[in-house]
Amino acid sequence: MILDKHNRIHNYLRISLTDNCNLRCFYCMPDADYSFMPSSQLMQSEEINQIAKTFISLGTNKIRLTGGEPFVRKDADTIIKNLSAFPVKLSLTTNGVRLHEFLDTIREAGITSINVSLDTLQADKFQLITKRNNFRRVWDNIQLLLEHHIHVKVNMVVMKGINDGEINEFVAWTKHAPVHIRFIEFMPFTGNRWMDDKVVTWQDILGTIETKFSWIKLKDEANDTTKKYRVPGHQGTFAVISTMTSPFCSTCNRMRLTADGRMKNCLFSKEETDLLSAFRRGEDIVPLILGNVKAKAAERGGQFVEDYHQLQAKGIENRSMIAIGG
Ligand code: SAM
Ligand code: SF4
Repeated sequence: MILDKHNRIHNYLRISLTDNCNLRCFYCMPDADYSFMPSSQLMQSEEINQIAKTFISLGTNKIRLTGGEPFVRKDADTIIKNLSAFPVKLSLTTNGVRLHEFLDTIREAGITSINVSLDTLQADKFQLITKRNNFRRVWDNIQLLLEHHIHVKVNMVVMKGINDGEINEFVAWTKHAPVHIRFIEFMPFTGNRWMDDKVVTWQDILGTIETKFSWIKLKDEANDTTKKYRVPGHQGTFAVISTMTSPFCSTCNRMRLTADGRMKNCLFSKEETDLLSAFRRGEDIVPLILGNVKAKAAERGGQFVEDYHQLQAKGIENRSMIAIGG
């Protein structure tokens, strides 16, 4: 069992397959001179398999693949197939652009739920946010997953003046579609031009929804990062993720592995443990994993202040989101 000093059991591992991506979301990928990691620096598929196996031997029972964009990796299907043989709940977070190419792999791996990021329902705004013209492709791929009865959780990062005017359109989408919309508070990462006045708090999100819909609160699961709701009569549901204003750290069970094999015990941790180099030297990585989690801060990597308006985003030591794995 992997325990931290606050007695939180850690059994959920997010593995980033690459820091490369086929979109350029401004809030995730630093603008100009970001260079992707060379592939020799990335964990190779057999290394992912072996490192995951070690985590599983320590009690990990849930693995999420992410990135960058996991489906830009050429051997993504091999990695998914290999991991699906382990006794873990396997899932994915993707921007949805290449989902149609991987549908068979997803189904064969027994994956029943996928998180797809979509911040707008307008094609021109999609282009503005991601710098790519792929709205239709992502939309069609979400429909494809629904047709195959794969549960879709839609991640929408809410940013003031950019897409907050669309909150109720996303909620309206849940009327006839069994999608689960997750409204995420905008978070600061290296180079992402985060400003406190761009954050829309979960209370403001709910306030906007209340102007048009009534909702009922649903029961949240243990270790859940979301607060869940349903509009009565709607097929789908929605949730808010309140990292900035009301963090859910007290029940955190998550660990992260970056694409270059560094372990992070929190999305906002400064410290990283280089598992991949140790693994390549033939060393036992178990003490490194246990030590990394033991050192976990109580909340948000120990780097945040209570009031996000006082936060000095430039002072936070971290990677950009695309290099961590969301
Ligand atoms: N490429 C995949 C995708 O977009 O779903 C997986 C990686 S992406 C880094 C994972 C999630 O992190 C996405 O849902 C994205 O919207 C979210 N994310 C990225 N930057 C963020 C930020 N600054 N604040 C909040 N969420 C962010
Ligand atoms: Fe790529 Fe996902 Fe980041 Fe957008 S949020 S740039 S799709 S990794």
